[in-house]
This record gives sequence, C-alpha cells and structure tokens, in this order.
Amino acid sequence: MRPESVAAVAVGAGLAVGAWFYAALYPTSQIFGRVVIAGDDPAELALTYDDGPNPSATPQLLDLLAKHHVRATFFLIGEYVREQPALAREIAAAGHSIGNHTMTHPWLSYKSVARIRSEIAGANAAIEDVIGGGVKLFRPPHGARRPVVLRIAQELGLTTVNWNVITHDWRVQPAASIVEKVRNGIRRNRAYVRGSNILLHDGALYQPRIPTVEATETIIADAKADGMRFVTPEAWL
Ligand SMILES: [Zn+2]
Repeated sequence: MRPESVAAVAVGAGLAVGAWFYAALYPTSQIFGRVVIAGDDPAELALTYDDGPNPSATPQLLDLLAKHHVRATFFLIGEYVREQPALAREIAAAGHSIGNHTMTHPWLSYKSVARIRSEIAGANAAIEDVIGGGVKLFRPPHGARRPVVLRIAQELGLTTVNWNVITHDWRVQPAASIVEKVRNGIRRNRAYVRGSNILLHDGALYQPRIPTVEATETIIADAKADGMRFVTPEAWL
C-alpha cells in the first residue's frame, strides 16, 4: 500500500474509533439510543447522586435535602443496597427518586450481553427486595453504553438517564471547586435553553464525600436565589 493510502486508512479507522467512543462514552450522545438528559426549561434542575448508599455521606446528605425540602435522585449500586438496606430504605422513605446503577459498577460498554443483563437485573432485584416497588430509571456506570445496554435496560422497564453537568467529585476536592463547576454548567445550560442534570456522588461505600454534601448546600441556596425548580428526571421522560 502506498504511504498516502496507509494514511487514508488510518484516518478512516481513527474517525470510526473516535465515533464509537463518542457514541459509547459521551454522556449526552444519542447515537446508541435515546438517553434522557434534561428538558428544555432552563429553570429546572435535577440533583442526581450516584454510587450510594454510603454510610459515610448519605445520612448527612439526606438531612440536608430534608432541611431544604429538596427532592433528589439516587442511582444506587445493587451490592451496596444489599450491604446497607436500612440506608437504602431511608432514601426511598424520604421521597427521593431511586435509580439502578448496576450491581457492581462495571464499564458496560465492554461487557458481555449476559453480564450486562445480570448487572442491571441484579440491581433491580436488590433495590426491589429492599425498598419494594418498581425501579424506573437507570444510569450506566461512567455513562458508558452500547446499543445492547440500552435495549436490555428498556426490556427491564428502565429509562436510561445521563447528565449534562459533571463535577468530578469522585476525586477529592474542596466543596468550592464542586460548586464552581456546577455554576459554570448551569450557566452553559441556560445559554443553550435547557435544564440542568447535575452528576454528583454520595458514594461509593465508605468514601468520604462530605465536600459533595457541603457543595450541595451552596448549590441549593444558589438555585433558590435564582428561582430555579428542583425536579427529578421523571419530569423529562
Ligand atoms: Zn457511578
């Protein structure tokens, strides 16, 4: 093959790989199937907390949300629900929306069909055993999916939900830095005339997520001062 042909093939393959990564991993991509992000009302905001329940942060977060009468969404990991059933029940009893975040938090874009099904069905069963009632929302770990992930979720009665504001709060950082990312994200969403779906983390199990709890207090105060309304992703289905 002539050098220019080699280059052309490499560019073509690079674009294909790039497109696959975009479709599989970009949180708001719709290429592999519909994923709920947010509605078109920029005054709406959803606080979503992943990777719990976590006894090192979830109780403090529940207290804070109750104090401010804010309803949030918790995407729970099935094996942690099995380990912390009372805390999982407390989240549900407080009226928050509960979502499925798989049994063990793998990158589903790289797993077998059987494993994808067992991860999602297992978490549904764990949540239903502990909390009762049907689970309706699903968030793939890392937002990673491929078409079969979305299809299996749908077969199990779940709507897949990602986000449009990310804070990287799974890395240790001060609350102020989480707040700053949320403010920037909401500003961007308002400019694009869309609601804000904010990804935060109260888990994983035993992780110190207190900066996320502290940031939440400021995010709530900001949102109330700006006349925003707290919703859960069900509002955007
Ligand atoms: Zn997660």
